[in-house]
Amino acid sequence: RGGTPEREIPFARPNSLTRVYAVASGKGGVGKSSVTVNLAAALAEQGLRVGVVDADVYGFSVPRMLGVEHKPTQVDDMILPPVSHDVKVISIGMFVPGNQPVVWRGPMLHRALQQFLGDVFWGDLDVLLLDLPPGTGDIAISVAQLIPGAEILVVTTPQQAAAEVAERAGSIALQTHQRIVGVIENMSWLELPDGSRQEIFGSGGGQAVAESLTRSVGAEVPLLGQIPLDTNLREGADQGTPVVLRNPESPAAVALRGIARGL
Ligand code: ADP
Repeated sequence: RGGTPEREIPFARPNSLTRVYAVASGKGGVGKSSVTVNLAAALAEQGLRVGVVDADVYGFSVPRMLGVEHKPTQVDDMILPPVSHDVKVISIGMFVPGNQPVVWRGPMLHRALQQFLGDVFWGDLDVLLLDLPPGTGDIAISVAQLIPGAEILVVTTPQQAAAEVAERAGSIALQTHQRIVGVIENMSWLELPDGSRQEIFGSGGGQAVAESLTRSVGAEVPLLGQIPLDTNLREGADQGTPVVLRNPESPAAVALRGIARGL
């Protein structure tokens, strides 16, 4: 194999003090990126040094959701990540010319991830969040190979069908011997003006995934929290300021801040 040798990934060192969370989901559209950016912003607000790698090749939505306005810069042979809301961000979308559609094959994605982790100057981080593509693909295996100590957060909706695919995504961790930190249920209900809850996508998905993963892993996989449907969350994402910062008392923000505190 030619070219420059691969750089060591600092987060893979046995004495690394950075907690790495890979955020996974079975399918797209369940709010995985929304959860990632809000946890990142909430943790940064707590005073932690936080980085996010957007490796969701189908989405690239993290920079927009975090309001990232700058491109990465290059200093010597390292890439300097842009910073927004005190979160350092690198997205695979920052390196795709003109937002052209790219057919990502496993080895390309592996190589991209390797560069994001090894060639980006992250400095000392307390937490690194990885927004993975949905599904059970090669990327989860890549993460495990590149950062064996990475832990998994599984995002699902309450819907049974979503829960089943989320279970499969989570069970990859069994093969890779990674710890599953827990399950986050998103879009759990809509709070109506009279205070009652409308369960638009059904109920029980998050709990079902947590129980199923607990059985298959043989260790407690908790349901870390339930995030309601909340217009504020979607607006925050569209405006580039996560709801936990923009509207911290809104229902989704309260849930997300609670989950961040528990990590
Ligand atoms: P994924 O990363 O799983 O594909 P996204 O985070 O991109 O999902 O979310 C999909 C869409 O749903 C986005 O437009 C987002 O703003 C919206 N969304 C996600 N979670 C919520 C929620 N709890 N309330 C309202 N809108 C949400």
